[in-house]
Amino acid sequence: MVGQVDEFNQKTSCVCQGTVAVTYDDGPSEFTPTLLDSLKAAGLKVTFFVIGQMVSQYPATLKRAYAEGHHIASHTWDHADLATLTVAQVKAELIKNEAIIFQTLGVVPKIMRCPYGSINAAGAKEITRLGYTMIYWNLDTNDWAHPTDTAASMKVYTDTVTPQTTFTSYISLQHDIVQTTVQMAPNVWNHVKKQGFSVVDTPTCLQLTTKDLYWTTLPDPNR
Ligand SMILES: [Zn+2]
Repeated sequence: MVGQVDEFNQKTSCVCQGTVAVTYDDGPSEFTPTLLDSLKAAGLKVTFFVIGQMVSQYPATLKRAYAEGHHIASHTWDHADLATLTVAQVKAELIKNEAIIFQTLGVVPKIMRCPYGSINAAGAKEITRLGYTMIYWNLDTNDWAHPTDTAASMKVYTDTVTPQTTFTSYISLQHDIVQTTVQMAPNVWNHVKKQGFSVVDTPTCLQLTTKDLYWTTLPDPNR
């Protein structure tokens, strides 16, 4: 299925058939530079959903990812479960991340993913009002749950992405804070390509334009 959204208007699948949008959440981390090296060698661009607290620790890594053409998106300041917060607290999670990313990159992402994919109706309305597009996923590797089992994430791909499924598309979820995820990433991309899919970033799979991706000045935090 293509171009789907859930009840909160989070995008759950790509628009372009035959694509796998590969996303890495919760970084940048100490492992991200290795992933960037592999992506460069493979000639691929992906999406990083970044946490403000990690950006403050690894600003140079975020700068590198952006400079090398990867899509940078927001994953809140500190990975709070937004469904448990007030609307004002949800807003603060995004505004705080806007500030650190703008300080680091000079742009602010308009695309975000809720930590755990968790949100409620009031929070979703606020995130949309602030100008964000929310992205979910429809291929979950659960890599965080089996950080030492390299076969487990691969099995999710080999079970899901097959030549018979090229009529559809995927937004996959993994984490660049998991070392094994970074180590096995090239194997995952090779599998996807062998099945006839393209490995792309989220904007490509959703047919978003440049103006959909970033604010080029810091948006009003009091908006
Ligand atoms: Zn996360």
